[in-house]
Amino acid sequence: MKIRKLFKFEGAHIVRNCSSERCKYNIHGHSYVVEVFISSNKLDKGFMVIDFILLDIVKEFIDSFDHSYSLWNKESDEFKDFIYKYNSRVAEIPVSPSAEGYSLMFYLVIDKILKNMILKNGEGKISLDAIRVHETATGYAEVSEEDRHLMDFGLQDIIFSEGIGLEWKNKDWWNMLKQEKKFESPEVIQNL
Ligand SMILES: [Zn+2]
Repeated sequence: MKIRKLFKFEGAHIVRNCSSERCKYNIHGHSYVVEVFISSNKLDKGFMVIDFILLDIVKEFIDSFDHSYSLWNKESDEFKDFIYKYNSRVAEIPVSPSAEGYSLMFYLVIDKILKNMILKNGEGKISLDAIRVHETATGYAEVSEEDRHLMDFGLQDIIFSEGIGLEWKNKDWWNMLKQEKKFESPEVIQNL
């Protein structure tokens, strides 16, 4: 069975090397919509694929890009210095921040979140089917497992600024994920 959860963020970027002059030379923003499709071979004790409350960590990850500047790590040092000097929320990323780039990065990270999450309610084999990133109301990019060969980067290549990290409920989650440590969703930890 498949479920879909929708997340939103307001992000700023420049997409270098694209065809649009406006897009490649100007800092601008979009209201992004991210769809996460998850499936399982069985339902948990509550007749759910996975309780949405357990996706709180996914929300925290996507929210890291909200009111943030997505800085492609291939930008010049001069431009990077400018961005870091005047912004506290900066996500330095290994993909150009197109909808396609975000989709690849979100797939890699959310797949790892789902694989490392401790599940205790009889959930089945949870798998990430697809990520869709809508940059505007009229178009989206979609990534699934068959696009894995396009993910020539790792979590260590994604760097969140201190201004982003300070707002995380669970300050350690990103380091834990990078180290492949199992973890529980912040909401579950709070309820213990
Ligand atoms: Zn844009």
